[in-house]
Amino acid sequence: MSERTNISILITLLCLWSCVKKEGQTTRESSAATRPNIIFIMADDHAEKAISAYGHDLIETPNIDRLAKEGMLFRNSFVTNSICAPSRAAILTGKFSHINGKRDNLDVFDGDQETFPKLLRRAGYTTAMIGKWHLKSTPQGFDEWNILIGQGNYYSPRFVSGSDTTRVDGYVTDVITDYVLDFLNRRDTKQPFCLFYHHKAPHRNWMPNVSDLHLYADENLPLPANFFDQYNNRQAAEAADMRIADMFLSADMKLMPDDYDSESGTGGNDHYDAERAWKANYNRMNEKQREAWDAHYMPLNKAFAESKLTGKELAEWKYQRYMKDYLRCIKSVDDNVGRVLGHLDKSGLAENTIVVYTSDQGFYLGEHGWYDKRFMYEESMRTPLIVRYPKEIKAGTVAKQLVQNIDHAATFLDFAGIDIPGEVQGKSLRPVMLDPDHAPFREALYYHYYEGLKGWHSVKKHYGVRTERYKLIHFYHDIDTWELYDLKNDSEEMNNLYNTEGYRDIREDLHQKLKKLKIKYTDIDSNKTKVYNRE
Ligand code: CA
Repeated sequence: MSERTNISILITLLCLWSCVKKEGQTTRESSAATRPNIIFIMADDHAEKAISAYGHDLIETPNIDRLAKEGMLFRNSFVTNSICAPSRAAILTGKFSHINGKRDNLDVFDGDQETFPKLLRRAGYTTAMIGKWHLKSTPQGFDEWNILIGQGNYYSPRFVSGSDTTRVDGYVTDVITDYVLDFLNRRDTKQPFCLFYHHKAPHRNWMPNVSDLHLYADENLPLPANFFDQYNNRQAAEAADMRIADMFLSADMKLMPDDYDSESGTGGNDHYDAERAWKANYNRMNEKQREAWDAHYMPLNKAFAESKLTGKELAEWKYQRYMKDYLRCIKSVDDNVGRVLGHLDKSGLAENTIVVYTSDQGFYLGEHGWYDKRFMYEESMRTPLIVRYPKEIKAGTVAKQLVQNIDHAATFLDFAGIDIPGEVQGKSLRPVMLDPDHAPFREALYYHYYEGLKGWHSVKKHYGVRTERYKLIHFYHDIDTWELYDLKNDSEEMNNLYNTEGYRDIREDLHQKLKKLKIKYTDIDSNKTKVYNRE
């Protein structure tokens, strides 16, 4: 073979290689164009009961409802550990708290571990995290992030992005959405994106936007039937400090120093300087906001000061103020979700974008006399979940399967065509989304709350199992009590049946199920008896 022939063959091979490479690139680019975008909207402490799509009439949420009308509403969506930061860690990793290491709000999340945003990013997704992060460590796996400091503030919120800190004159729910729209407008349109759009609202201390203060002004919201719960046969519930009746007059009720004699609320943490915290929050408003705030609250506060309410009347007054402020905060979340959905319509992104609306967990809106979360009882173990993806999800569908927040990671990876790592404990919801009437999913849910006396509200450590109908809970640590509920006959979980004769077989069956789940998820040493002192 002559040298010229050799060169000619080499050139031909190079041409072929070049063509193949181009084809390969084209394939990757076209799949990038068809892979769905993901917008993961998460509110903080948003109870199902405060979304009209769930069939409740406390509030109208037309924009969140629109996602349900055009997508799928999950009737039985739960968390693994009903508290802010651990829930976020479970979502990112697809794993229970004992595996991802973020058991309570005091732990620092180990950001070096595998998360679904990291996997999406490695597969060519642009990833962004905007809003509340709350994991104590720096976000990893995002091309860009712009997060609130800690819990964040409702007014003049401060954001951290890399080494920059910015204080923004505005209302937090609006400002987070402004950043989200800015990201959508300037992103690299050649790549699919995964955007975390995470609100602070409606987290405590429920400061509404001044433009929403008129809502509910003349209404009397209905008190839940078990508002004055006596916690019979439920020791852990009785021991918790999360009753609306005990809310802070300052930080929670937004009363001013002249409106009451002394701060009588315990608020879940008797070391917390509630008056100082409230003053700091109030002072974050600009002059115009403060004028509108005072115009609304001052006459009501004056009337409160003159009324000298005590006992049940004071508890009911607190309920009204709490609920109205909570719902007003949600009104702003819903309006801002509407802004983002409007942008998706206009920009043509709606069809190929998975939009998820959820919360980091549920919340008590007066049930058992409570606010807050933590317990494995229904109101806080449940979390809303609505998903719209017109390409695969039929509009107006409802799923009844038992799903959990560890399922998000597997679901997004599945839709993006990425292998789900074997260590992920959640399951892809995609089969349920495709066929909600027939896809089998999960027989029972496992739950484990760890914070105990370390943090706020004195909620005992506990774990348990929930099937479609029954729930078994073990409170442990400085207590050793079991509770069993028949949710079909007692949806409010008022009647602990653990020692009821007729439920012995059910109890034993639930014990077996619980044991199996502990082994399955490798949470095998959870019944520790060591007693912690409050830190
Ligand atoms: Ca939360």
